[in-house]
Amino acid sequence: MRKPFFLSRNIFHGLIPASWAMALKISCGYLLAGLLWVLLSDRLLNLFVSDLRTLSLLQTFKGLIFILVTALLLFLLLWRHFTRLRRAEEQIALAAQGVSSCVGDAFFTSLVAYLAQVLETDCALVATIDEAEAHQVQTIALWRDGRLEDNLAYSLEGSPCSALLDKEVCWCPKGVKTKQKPGHPFCGMGVESCLAMGLRDVQQRLIGVVMVLSRRPMGQRRTAESLLRIFATRAAAELERKAAEQKIAHMAFFDPLTDLPNQQLFRDELEAALLRARRQQSSLALIYFDFDRFKTIVRSLGHLYGQWVLRQTASKLKENLGPREILAHLGGDEFGAVLPDVSAAADVEIAIERLLKPLGAPMNIVGHELYVTASVGVALFPHDGGDVETLLRHADVAMSRAKAMGRNNVQFYNPEMSRHSFQHLVLENRLHRALEREEFILLYQPQLDLATGALSGMEALICWKQEGRATFSPSQFIPLAEETGLIDPLGEWILFTACSQNVAWQKAGLPPQRVAVNVSARQFYQRDIVALVARVLRETGLDPRWLALEITESILFQDIAETTVTLEKLRDLGVHLIIDDFGTGYSSLTYLRNFPMGTLKVDQSFIAGVPQDPGACTITTAVIAMAHHLRMTVVAEGVEKEEQKEFLVNAGCEKIQGFLYSPPLRAEDFATLLRRSSAA
Ligand code: C2E
Ligand code: MG
Ligand code: MG
Repeated sequence: MRKPFFLSRNIFHGLIPASWAMALKISCGYLLAGLLWVLLSDRLLNLFVSDLRTLSLLQTFKGLIFILVTALLLFLLLWRHFTRLRRAEEQIALAAQGVSSCVGDAFFTSLVAYLAQVLETDCALVATIDEAEAHQVQTIALWRDGRLEDNLAYSLEGSPCSALLDKEVCWCPKGVKTKQKPGHPFCGMGVESCLAMGLRDVQQRLIGVVMVLSRRPMGQRRTAESLLRIFATRAAAELERKAAEQKIAHMAFFDPLTDLPNQQLFRDELEAALLRARRQQSSLALIYFDFDRFKTIVRSLGHLYGQWVLRQTASKLKENLGPREILAHLGGDEFGAVLPDVSAAADVEIAIERLLKPLGAPMNIVGHELYVTASVGVALFPHDGGDVETLLRHADVAMSRAKAMGRNNVQFYNPEMSRHSFQHLVLENRLHRALEREEFILLYQPQLDLATGALSGMEALICWKQEGRATFSPSQFIPLAEETGLIDPLGEWILFTACSQNVAWQKAGLPPQRVAVNVSARQFYQRDIVALVARVLRETGLDPRWLALEITESILFQDIAETTVTLEKLRDLGVHLIIDDFGTGYSSLTYLRNFPMGTLKVDQSFIAGVPQDPGACTITTAVIAMAHHLRMTVVAEGVEKEEQKEFLVNAGCEKIQGFLYSPPLRAEDFATLLRRSSAA
């Protein structure tokens, strides 16, 4: 640890010898004058005084005269010396008082001002020295010719004080200008002498310098050095404090993972950029983007690799940043950017392409090539908002739209999006409470066997009843429930309710019927659907042959390998499998043949065109034939008219479902229908 300055071995360095010299000088002077007087006084009196009376009078008083004269001389000498000493003391006390009452930047500015004044030099400075950057000197307070000047930077190597790298003090009493490298910032000043002292941190690393420079040769090294030494410890401590403060400030405004500005700084920077744009009557673009399927990356590679991907991508994005552009890490995998001076959407698109170019390159991670894509939302100032909050909200809405549009694309905000997004928010809030408030009910839509004209099976459809509010259809809230994760408890509730209701009907003596339950993508891929179905069957006691699962064509083809395995396990449980909404996706017939599906449901959109639209008729006929070929029975859904039914009978379709036969019914109404149809 460094010693406090008052314990330093050299603190009185210069002062003690000077006092000795002064005391010795006075004593010797006195001795010399006394001797001369003793030796020469009689001769001098004889030489100048001839009158014997006067001579004897003077000889009587010559001792007294000597004492008076030497006392006078002594007084003058001591007076001069103590005046000087007092003035120096006063100056140091003044400097110490002035400097020690200040902290931070004020400390450095008052220090340089006092040093220059007390040591009577033309220039004084305090600077930081950055070891990491080739010992770059950066002044933090520079006093020159009686005033504070703008700070400047130069390299310590090649400067007159480069000796500080090895020594504590650098003393150059004259000829500095001849040692300066051309182009050094002090070249034009005509510096003749300088004294510098290194400032070191607790680990004795050189972190700064305090220096005085003069256009005249410098004497008084010891006094100056002592003075610098007194303040060097405090200056070093202040430098360390300043560095710690800067570090804390950096942590408060920069994200530690990517070293990009954080949310707080981004907002401040955006505010400043908006002020500038308003003043210059220019426009700017605010960009929000996040990585597509980042959660999947984290899930499959682990959290650490996820962070690595974020860090790597952030540093690559930084390289492509224009001079006045701002890029920030807003949290998670979300980033924001401000692009100033963009006048048209085309400019923004070009800028985004440049900024996000690194995303096009693959990342090599644990032997795999990983491509990261982003969904980008853009809000323009002043077109889409005049303040920070509005622009941020609109860019966020546009980004959500980019995600909804299938990811990896750029969406510019438009007001239509906001309306949609607000509805989304309202819906999400209500959805969360709906399950607890038991606002969901399950309806059952019966199916008609075209050959026998009897009821044959049903589809369970969820319905959300809200007191006094608009009702939302499942196609609106099921995707949202998937997004928010609510589908997990909701899907389980649906399956459990449908199965236990079916058991209840059977126990009530009604003829057994198969109930078909819709399965969403998240349920199918992210939950262990096989375990869930097995558990529900066990808990409700339903025979598996009275349960069917409806899986849409689009879900089936998301991951063929996983789908095949899951479907086979479900089939092995004894559950019937139905392919729903057939004709809306892009099924590969090769794979379709391998899936263990028992029934195919022709999508309503084709049935709606039957029999007047020849195209719809051709497709429907072809789909029915193909299903039969693959040994599947066919259900046509959305049958509303008699002529549709006739067409389907002729095309060989086995069953129909739709308003023509019955709308979806409450459990008690369905029981009545079941009772009636069994009696018939
Ligand atoms: P889907 O599985 O294709 O269900 C058939 C939809 O057609 C139902 O709409 C039904 O009410 C409607 N529908 C029945 N007959 C007719 C008709 O004659 N004409 C017309 N125009 N429509 C008819 P809903 O109840 O609005 O459900 C829409 C979609 O929401 C369903 O399509 C299904 O994909 C999903 N869904 C419904 N219930 C559930 C559920 O419990 N779980 C899951 N995961 N999804 C569900
Ligand atoms: Mg369905
Ligand atoms: Mg359907």
